[in-house]
Amino acid sequence: MKDEQTIIAASKNQHKIQEMEKIMGAMGLHVISRADAGIPDEFDVVEDGETFEANSFKKAESIMKYSGKIAVADDSGLMVDALDGAPGVYSARFAGEPTDDEKNNDKLLTLLKDVPDERRTAKFVSVITLVYPDGEVLTARGECPGRILHERHGSNGFGYDPLFLPDGYEETFAELGAEVKNRISHRAHALQNLERLLKEKDS
Ligand code: IMP
Repeated sequence: MKDEQTIIAASKNQHKIQEMEKIMGAMGLHVISRADAGIPDEFDVVEDGETFEANSFKKAESIMKYSGKIAVADDSGLMVDALDGAPGVYSARFAGEPTDDEKNNDKLLTLLKDVPDERRTAKFVSVITLVYPDGEVLTARGECPGRILHERHGSNGFGYDPLFLPDGYEETFAELGAEVKNRISHRAHALQNLERLLKEKDS
């Protein structure tokens, strides 16, 4: 993989694209947004898989098929042990559609109302999938373990960040801020694993 190759990101989130570009750029892979690749906004993929892997693959495969180019997609969410892994793949629409972070956090707190501290363990999961036009697929998973607090702390980040206390830290993702979060998060770990897979492929 010596020549620079262009990869189309299935995500519409510029922040995620930049995170991916940082890792993959070092591997000679140039990540561009779906908009920059000329993929119309209306072209959408229904995330109806039962696993992060299934949704991540579906998004990447559909963009690859549409464009004929290498595509990358990620799917992520929160899994709470006391809720048997919920909200899982339904994290974005836990409290219904359209996505509403405040309602999702309220619902989580209500469901965990009577759950004691020692049973409030949870993890964030991210799965990043690369699909090549020849059908090759690379799948990288990353996790970040922690626990769910009884109330919100902090105002950075998004989603469930104000309720999630990562293991080994005394502040939530929403208090720690982007720099720390980007080092320890599920997405950071998935990207590290992807980097390893790309190096193996290259060697
Ligand atoms: P998606 O992978 O962008 O579709 O994210 C799915 C949902 O999981 C988001 O809407 C959030 O509710 C939740 N989620 C994923 N990653 C994070 C995170 O880093 N912090 C907080 N919530 C997250």
